[in-house]
Amino acid sequence: MDLIDLHCHSTASDGTLTPSKLIDLARESGLKALALTDHDTLEGLPEAIERSQAIGMELVPGVEISAEFKPGSMHILGYFVDYNHGGLAGKLKALQDSRKNRNPKIIANLNKLGFDVTLDEVKAASGGGQVGRPHFAKVMIDKGYVRNMDEAFDRYLAKGKPGYAEKFRFSPHDAVELIRAAGGIPVLAHPFTLGLSNPDIRKLLAEMKESGLIGLEVYYSEHSRQMVSEYLGMAAFFDLTPTGGSDFHGANKPEIKLGRGFGSLKIPYSVLEDLKKRRDELL
Ligand code: AMP
Ligand code: ZN
Ligand code: FE
Ligand code: FE
Repeated sequence: MDLIDLHCHSTASDGTLTPSKLIDLARESGLKALALTDHDTLEGLPEAIERSQAIGMELVPGVEISAEFKPGSMHILGYFVDYNHGGLAGKLKALQDSRKNRNPKIIANLNKLGFDVTLDEVKAASGGGQVGRPHFAKVMIDKGYVRNMDEAFDRYLAKGKPGYAEKFRFSPHDAVELIRAAGGIPVLAHPFTLGLSNPDIRKLLAEMKESGLIGLEVYYSEHSRQMVSEYLGMAAFFDLTPTGGSDFHGANKPEIKLGRGFGSLKIPYSVLEDLKKRRDELL
């Protein structure tokens, strides 16, 4: 069976592999196609496209947009976005600026907690792409303040913890519209992270379907078999195309392998074929 991975991060956001290295790893891992879905940026796509063409790997251009959702957080994936679309890049710039405004606030919070962490150190850890909380965590781990990513988030960086600082996000409705306006297919990412009951997820899907949502990320490293079957049922009910990916971040989430997640993830190529059908219907 041909396998794919439709969710991963490069150095353009908080992954540790460059876009080219990711494409190479997809090939070594025996995948037939890969989507690059960096947080709030399209900056990794030109390099990824170039490398994918050079070695003949199918690449789906993508993005993962952070949307406003209380009390948790919501991520919306956008596949086949037109990365030359001025409107999308402009709107993403607002998200990038809001990260830049947030980062000194996280630094101030960590300093207040007694940790010696500077913005320059965090930027260095980011390798020049979008700065995300995993980069703050990385510096804290390197300095011995915490043992690992989970401890950094659970104690300091997760929403509601003392290091956390808010940043501007689009509403789910606006994020979906933005992706559609750029010719993309909006997909609700890793629904379990919303922290909702299944009836509440169904209500949300009904609303987001009205906004223009087209897919639901059903296959995911951290989805149990039961979640997968429940989300498949919801996707069928709301006529959302089921997608899947590992959320590979390289060394920032070392236990997650490209295409395989924690080991049992398997996303067949037919998932991508169905996604392309939905795209073609919209053209
Ligand atoms: P940011 O872009 O700064 O909001 O950070 C988002 C990144 O942090 C995503 O890649 C998540 O995988 C990671 N992240 C968010 N919450 C946690 C958590 N509780 N534990 C580990 N990683 C997390
Ligand atoms: Zn990430
Ligand atoms: Fe995400
Ligand atoms: Fe992700």
